[in-house]
Amino acid sequence: MNAGNQRFEKIRHSLPDGIVASSDSHVLRAYSQDLWPRKMIEIREQGPDPEPAMDLVLWPENAAQISDVARWAVRMDCALYPYGAGSGVCGATTADAGEPRPRVVVDLKRMNCVRSIDRKSMTAWVEAGIIGENLERHLNQEGLTLGHFPSSLYCSSLGGWLATRSAGQLSTKYGKIEDMVLSLECVFADGTVAETARAPRSAMGADWTQLLLGTEGTLCFFSAACVLVHPLPEKRVGLSFETPDIRTAMEFARMALQAGLRPAALRIYDPLETSLTLSRAVLKESGFGGGAAIVAQFEGGAAVTDAGAGELLRMAPLAGARRIGDQLAQHWWEHRYDISYKQQLIMSHGRMILDTFEVAATWDKLQAVYEAVKNVNIGFGIVLAHLSHFYHAGANIYFSIVAHAGLTPDVPARYDSIWSDVMRAAEGAGATLSHHHGVGRLRREWIMRERADWMKIFLKVKNGFDPENHLNPGKMGG
Ligand SMILES: Cc1cc2nc3c(=O)[nH]c(=O)nc-3n(C[C@H](O)[C@H](O)[C@H](O)COP(=O)(O)OP(=O)(O)OC[C@H]3O[C@@H](n4cnc5c(N)ncnc54)[C@H](O)[C@@H]3O)c2cc1C
Repeated sequence: MNAGNQRFEKIRHSLPDGIVASSDSHVLRAYSQDLWPRKMIEIREQGPDPEPAMDLVLWPENAAQISDVARWAVRMDCALYPYGAGSGVCGATTADAGEPRPRVVVDLKRMNCVRSIDRKSMTAWVEAGIIGENLERHLNQEGLTLGHFPSSLYCSSLGGWLATRSAGQLSTKYGKIEDMVLSLECVFADGTVAETARAPRSAMGADWTQLLLGTEGTLCFFSAACVLVHPLPEKRVGLSFETPDIRTAMEFARMALQAGLRPAALRIYDPLETSLTLSRAVLKESGFGGGAAIVAQFEGGAAVTDAGAGELLRMAPLAGARRIGDQLAQHWWEHRYDISYKQQLIMSHGRMILDTFEVAATWDKLQAVYEAVKNVNIGFGIVLAHLSHFYHAGANIYFSIVAHAGLTPDVPARYDSIWSDVMRAAEGAGATLSHHHGVGRLRREWIMRERADWMKIFLKVKNGFDPENHLNPGKMGG
C-alpha cells in the first residue's frame, strides 16, 4: 500500500455526509498540481510523480457544507486545500511531500451562483466558485460588468482571485480585486460562517476584509463575496504611442496617473518585448519607429472617456511620447487573451525554462527595479518586461524569463537558480516581490524575507484562526 492509500485509509470510513467526493486516482492526479511552471518543468524532465499528492477531493455546494467539511477535518485530523480553478502559478493549491495527514482538496466550483444584484448600491453577491467568464457573462446580460479581466478569466474563479489578490487587464480604472470587494462571506477552520462588514467604508475597528484577502486559503475559505459592479461602458477609445526608451514611457505614465487620468488599460512594452511579442505587421501599419510601445484604452461614459483620452493626447508631446496609429491599440484589444496561452508552445520544448513574475514599486524605485532585473545574467536566455497596472504612487513590472537550461543536467535546479537571482535583484532594488500572482510555494522563502517581522505577527493571527494548521498547510509560513 503506497503512502497515499495509507493516509486515505484513516478517513475512508467516515467521509463527510451528503458532499460529492472522489478518490479516483485520475481525479486526484489532476488536483495534485496547479499551473506553477516549475512543477510542469519537473514533470516534463523527470516524468509524473509515482502517486498523486492528494488523497480526496470534495465539492461542497454551500457555506454550511464547507462548515461541515471544516469540522470533519479537525475531527479526522486532515489537511484541507481550498481550490478554485487551479490556474494559480505559484503552487498555492499543492501539498508538501512531507505532509503526513490525509490531504483533502475542497473545490468550490459547485458554488457558482450570482445570488443577488443591488442596482442602487451597484453591488452583487456572488458565490466564490464561479469561473470569471461565467460571472462576467451573467453581469453583461444585466448590462453590468465587474471590470476584472485577468488573462486567466476563462480558467480562474472569484475565490482564487480573492485569495491571491488578483489583477485584471483593466485594473488602472477598476482596481485590483481587493478594490472591488465590499464584504466577504467566510468559513473558518472551526466551522464558523461569518460575513465582514458590508459598508462603503467603516471606522468600526480593523478592516477584516483586507486582512483576509490574499491569505491563500490559510485563514479561511471564502464562500461568497459582495463585489462592486459597473454599467457596461458606453464608449471605448484606444490610443497608441511610442517613446525612445522605457524611462520616458514611465515618466509619461506617472504624469498621467498623478494628473488624475485613469485609462482602463495602460501598457508599456520595453523595447525587447515590443520587438519580440508585438505583431511586426501591426507595428509597421501603426508607424512605429522603435523604442518602447505604449497602448492606452479608455472606457466608460462617452463624455468622461473622450475627456480622458483628450487629456492624454495633450500630455503626450510634453512627456516625450509620440502618438502612432491606433491599429496597435486595436490589435492589443482584439488579442488581449492570446499571449498567455502561447507559453505552452515554449514549455513543450525539452530543457526550455519559462516563467513570469510581476513585481511592484513606487515611482522613485521603478526604473532601478527594471534595470536590476534586466541586468541579471540568466545564461542562454532573455528577460522581457512590460508594465500594465498603474497607480498614483507607482506601478507593476511584469517580467518574462525565457531561457534554455544549456548543458545543466538538472533543469528544475537551473530554474531555481534563475528564480533566486531575479528575485534577489528585484528585492535589492526595493520592489515588493509579487503584485498579483501571490506567494504559494514559489515565494514562501521570499515572503519570509520581505515581510520578516510581519510574518511573525501573521503566524500569531494564523494560530488564532486555525491553531492546528488544517487550512492550506505549508503556505504563508505555516
Ligand atoms: C494563462 C494564465 C494567465 C494568468 N493571468 C493572470 C492575470 O492576468 N492576473 C492575475 O491576477 N493572475 C493571473 N494568473 C494567475 C491565476 O489565474 C490567479 O492567481 C487566479 O487568481 C487563481 O484563481 P484560481 O481560481 O485558479 O485559484 P487556484 O489556483 O485554485 O487557487 C489559488 C489560491 O487561492 C486559494 N483559494 C482558491 N479558492 C479559494 C476560496 N474560495 N477560499 C479560500 N482560498 C481559495 C487556493 O487555496 C490557493 O491558495 C494567470 C494564470 C494563467 C495560467
